[in-house]
Amino acid sequence: MKINHYNNSHKGHLPVRVLQHNIISQFENTTAEFLKETLGTVNAKKLKTEMVYTINSDASNGDKVKGPFVYNKTNEIHIHETFLAYLWCMTYSLYIYSDLLILGQLDAIDERKLLADRTFNYALGLIDNYSDWDKANIPNPEVYDSKLAADIEKTNELFLYGFNFVLCHEYSHVDLGHCDAATRGFLADLERKEFELEADAKATNLFSDGIYPDNEAATKYGVAVALSSLLFFNSKVSKKIHPDSDVRIMNALNQFAVEDNDTSWLIACAALGLWSNKYSIELTWDEKPSFKKLYKYLSVQLD
Ligand SMILES: [Zn+2]
Repeated sequence: MKINHYNNSHKGHLPVRVLQHNIISQFENTTAEFLKETLGTVNAKKLKTEMVYTINSDASNGDKVKGPFVYNKTNEIHIHETFLAYLWCMTYSLYIYSDLLILGQLDAIDERKLLADRTFNYALGLIDNYSDWDKANIPNPEVYDSKLAADIEKTNELFLYGFNFVLCHEYSHVDLGHCDAATRGFLADLERKEFELEADAKATNLFSDGIYPDNEAATKYGVAVALSSLLFFNSKVSKKIHPDSDVRIMNALNQFAVEDNDTSWLIACAALGLWSNKYSIELTWDEKPSFKKLYKYLSVQLD
């Protein structure tokens, strides 16, 4: 049976459009009193309460991936449709890969693995060039067979937490006065790097306030997936402005006090493995007493 979530309130050309209302409500409900608490910042910093959602010109002619940004004179948070597509596809594949790893089935010939590979490759391709999302062959949140429903709904949940972390990071830049500093003048790379870490720490704090027993796992996995997705923008982990993505993952998971054998660490390990494959970088894998120790062991090899 086919499931179709599209209706004409969904603007855009890519199937991730069906989640746009969920994205906004996820942001507004980051914490119980989020709208009330953020009102002061919104007014003081003149942050536009409406986000700028840039859709592609049509389904076959769009922009390649561009991350959200807020460094601009108008204090608007910009979101690009292709970034959402990229993040959804990365979330889907990282979720399936981690699940297969836990089940010990990653090496088996498996329909879920095949779909995850296809989705992962589509996401990677979007970094270099735009291409249309083949809804008949690549899993997506809009139209799918009901037998994929469980994996797709899980992906939607993780994607909404992950993308909300990205939004809270941008919001934190505004709240912490980084945008004022940026419009006053040129920012040194070191200062920008510092700003990025501060924005992550603030976003992680907001997220910690919004954790309840029933959303704890999705919150942590969502953040692990979102930060892991950012790894693939760079052939080298080191980057001038954004601090190394592997360090950002470590900081956030430590700040959440995630347990050493939590699946979040496994997701991050899987992402490092995929990243090293893509850029043909040799990583030595050894058996370690926990996923966290394995992550640290892999991460230091990138320094
Ligand atoms: Zn930033």
